[in-house]
Amino acid sequence: MMTPYITIDLQKIEHNARTIVGLCKEHGIEVSGVTKVTCGHSEVANAMLRGGVSSIADSRLQNIQRLKDAGSDANYLLLRIPALSEVHKVVELVDVSLNSELIVIEGLSKSAQRLNKIHEVVLMVDLGDLREGAWQDDLVSLVLETIILPGVRIKGIGTNLACFGGVVPSEQNMNRLVELANEIEQTFMLKLEWISGINSSGLDLIAAGHMPKQINHARIGEAILLGCETTQRRPWPGTSQDAFVLHAEILELKKKPSVPVGQCSEDAFGQRPEFEDRGMIVRALLNVGREDVDVEGIKPLDARYNILGASSGYLALDVTQAAKSLRVGDELVFSLNYSALLTAMSSEYVNKLPLIAGHSARVDEV
Ligand SMILES: *Cc1c(COP(=O)(O)O)cnc(C)c1O
Repeated sequence: MMTPYITIDLQKIEHNARTIVGLCKEHGIEVSGVTKVTCGHSEVANAMLRGGVSSIADSRLQNIQRLKDAGSDANYLLLRIPALSEVHKVVELVDVSLNSELIVIEGLSKSAQRLNKIHEVVLMVDLGDLREGAWQDDLVSLVLETIILPGVRIKGIGTNLACFGGVVPSEQNMNRLVELANEIEQTFMLKLEWISGINSSGLDLIAAGHMPKQINHARIGEAILLGCETTQRRPWPGTSQDAFVLHAEILELKKKPSVPVGQCSEDAFGQRPEFEDRGMIVRALLNVGREDVDVEGIKPLDARYNILGASSGYLALDVTQAAKSLRVGDELVFSLNYSALLTAMSSEYVNKLPLIAGHSARVDEV
């Protein structure tokens, strides 16, 4: 495998999905597995499906197209509210989309009629996180205007928290969502199939038994992929945190000073880095950098290595404590946080190596 590369342990993802789906199921909550951070990686989606998620959700049409082209057979939910310019493609490609703008829903309605389809919409309400969604007072009128449109069907209502404002899902804001659902059901005499309350930030509320029982749908990405809830990034019981591992190769291994020599000004990224004087150290230069991954979000799995900094193509490590065991050409491994995973999966310079039972899933890539 050409370095750098990221290994994707499909069994761990399947296992994580099974754990999260199991918890949610006990509380009457159906789970859509969110693949956006993997750019719609089909083997990841398939592992989630084996683990019991009921549908696959992604924020980008290109990712959903990629999944469908790879033969991942599922219902698809578009997470990012559609662009007005892409409504036709949305109806063609996905079964359900999250929405908050009437003009876009009208576009979906027209496209659905042209394609002779029924497109399902989840109307989003903003309960304070200040990303997508109608403001609470405007939700009922959005329902009123949507309900009369041919070709679209209201599948439910939903809210998204902890993504922009960092607002934590609580019994209060979830109850507010339920109240709005009740109001809509009574006013319009309809049954909402989904009351879609949470993402990975809501697992604590479920486990503590404080999730209102009417909340019946969740959209979960990070907890399945990285094995943590997302309000404090605590490892979730019964899940693995290391389904993804970044591998990079040592290009240069030399004893050099720990502090630059000469007058210093800005580095390649306009920063003025500071260095701690530890005398002479053994420095390893690796072939991964800012063009490959958010280097602030990676951590060496071996605690004897310390990241010193990075440029677009290099990562510099202090490996003094383990220098004797290292050679040029060795691979070092790193864990990734959400941001690092997103950037590494998006970078064309980082090869992706799915593993089954710890081994490469594709013979041609070994
Ligand atoms: C990304 C996203 C999710 C998944 O969030 P995680 O924290 O990865 O579980 C859920 N819902 C919406 C609307 C999203 O954009």
